[in-house]
Amino acid sequence: MDGTEKLMKKMTEVEGISGFEQGVANLVKDELKGTCEYERDNLGSLICIHKGTTNSPKIMMAGHMDEVGFIVQQVTDEGFVKFLPVGGWWPGNVLAQKVAIQTRKGRVVGVVGSPAIHDMDKEKQGKLMKLKELFIDVGQSVDFDVKKELDIRPGDPITPLCDFEIMSNPKMYMAKAWDNRIGVLIMAEAMKRLAKIKHPNTAYGVGTVQEEVGLRGAKTAAAYVKPDVAFALDVCTAKDTGGNGKGRPEKPGAGVGIMVFDNSLLPNTKLRDFMIALAEKKKIKHFLGVLDGGGTDAGRINLSGTGILSMYIGIAARYIHSHVSVIHRDDFEAAVSLMVEAHKALDKKTVDSLRTF
Ligand SMILES: [Zn+2]
Repeated sequence: MDGTEKLMKKMTEVEGISGFEQGVANLVKDELKGTCEYERDNLGSLICIHKGTTNSPKIMMAGHMDEVGFIVQQVTDEGFVKFLPVGGWWPGNVLAQKVAIQTRKGRVVGVVGSPAIHDMDKEKQGKLMKLKELFIDVGQSVDFDVKKELDIRPGDPITPLCDFEIMSNPKMYMAKAWDNRIGVLIMAEAMKRLAKIKHPNTAYGVGTVQEEVGLRGAKTAAAYVKPDVAFALDVCTAKDTGGNGKGRPEKPGAGVGIMVFDNSLLPNTKLRDFMIALAEKKKIKHFLGVLDGGGTDAGRINLSGTGILSMYIGIAARYIHSHVSVIHRDDFEAAVSLMVEAHKALDKKTVDSLRTF
């Protein structure tokens, strides 16, 4: 594993569902030690600052640190853990998966269980089970009472458990939480590179919190930073699986996605065209992407104060909001390059010109 892969492993394996992002923030702080200053807003978003040759314009890159997971609802008298989803889950992705529960006294591993299939009615056997019918098995046995032995409480976070793996195609990486640790990694790597060069602005690399439960951290982080231009760095749905997205450009290996539409944001058209021209000029592999459903932090940042020039930069990922997702190394590199080039180019005069209508 090279240095980037080692960091990817740490960043994807760390546990951090919405509202419990501290482990991710610690990794970012370690990684940027000595290169940036840090601040936090009151919801916990991490704001890394690198001043270039001038204080303004302020350019913000936001990658949400949280991942989808679950939360403990109760431990039943039989010693099984009932849970609620945090973020969007398709029930088909949940059964028989490994999870880790973070309790006050440490980490408890478990597996999402269900009644044995032969004990179910015939018509139920062919159907997806609802989340509320499932439970987490943390090791209850005749001689071990989970309720007495383990200090699992309502509100404890539950995180998918999955090791980072490099696939046989060595540029493809399999891990949990690519949504959105890849965005956090792009932000951190871009900040590291910006710290070594001159850029005519101040860079705000932000790890936002609570995106998966409604873009909450982006709202307060944008109010805190008050950026002139903002980029949300996030995954977009890969369209090369299952035959549903024939001809669509959102594929692993296709480069960085300059996202022109999603349900939360119509990007400033001048900023959009500026980014497309920049990618072309610098020969950065890219595509114009469209997100069919959902929104990103950019949609929330865009509406902060009297409005902020915002864009969503996407990395094609397969199987997001499940235990295992897949991305391509080249897309990460392209996104970092695009962010660094954007910071080199976005001086006051350029940003002012993008703001005219
Ligand atoms: Zn996301």
